[in-house]
Amino acid sequence: MNSDIDIIVSEVGPRDGLQSIKTVMPTGEKIRWIESLAHAGLREIEVGSFVPPKLLPQMADTAEVVRAARNIARLTVVALAPNHKGAELAIASGAHSITMPVSASRAHSASNLRRTPEEAVEDVRKVRQLCDNASRDKRPRLEVGIATAFGCSMEGPVSEEWVMQLAVKLAEAGADSIGLSDSVGFANPTQVKRMFGNLRHEIGAKAGAAHFHNTRGLGLANVVSALDAGVTTFDSSQGGLGGCPFAPGATGNIITEDLVFMLESMGLRTGVNLERLIDARAVLRGALPNESLYGNVPDSGLPKGFVYARQS
Ligand code: ZN
Repeated sequence: MNSDIDIIVSEVGPRDGLQSIKTVMPTGEKIRWIESLAHAGLREIEVGSFVPPKLLPQMADTAEVVRAARNIARLTVVALAPNHKGAELAIASGAHSITMPVSASRAHSASNLRRTPEEAVEDVRKVRQLCDNASRDKRPRLEVGIATAFGCSMEGPVSEEWVMQLAVKLAEAGADSIGLSDSVGFANPTQVKRMFGNLRHEIGAKAGAAHFHNTRGLGLANVVSALDAGVTTFDSSQGGLGGCPFAPGATGNIITEDLVFMLESMGLRTGVNLERLIDARAVLRGALPNESLYGNVPDSGLPKGFVYARQS
């Protein structure tokens, strides 16, 4: 990790947010938004997903977006790849990091990835090989997020023991880091602390990012619990872009603006400047005038006397 920050805020709006809305954001606007997010100090951005354009036309330009984002200094460019084919495209485009979703819920895995969780683990093993065979300048980091780790809208509760077994299998298959994703907003703070604690116990330094959705309003509470369990990377999206198809009016991912404000207020350095983040929000707003954007900090402004976390 960069020594001048304590917590990595990994912006996933250009992927998780944009894939959840119908409007296709033009490539030039996407790149301008990503540049402005990086200018605000975000060090890691998930810029797109290598899925067939027929399934997600919003992501059809991901290779072009990755190539443009690679020109931004100090930015780690992350791309999602659901399978081997997607990983090949991600490596060819020069993504610094590939993230693969593996779903703990069998029903979710079948409907989203058309695979069993065990088959998805084998895909990760093959993608590990692919990464290792890539030339040194194109060899990406391989991350996995375990989707529906806290519950599933199809299956309901998901066995925590099974999630940990899956994490161990993924570590053994060669993932560099394995995080837990609350894809549908089921998690509560007690569960989050227990599961990230168990994850660290099972796979040590390979324990990865927390990915929370704010569907039921517990997003930031879950972040505080994950901090207690030692998590240092959090996914979030600007303006909570994307919403939730199952809950009209609910936000999508936890909101980057509110997350950065909370972390900085708590004395945890993110490297992100909130005024510049609001400038990036204006770029997003300009490109998608009809989409809902959320956030308490953007609505209320910074409190009088607000100070960023300091170098200690
Ligand atoms: Zn998500």
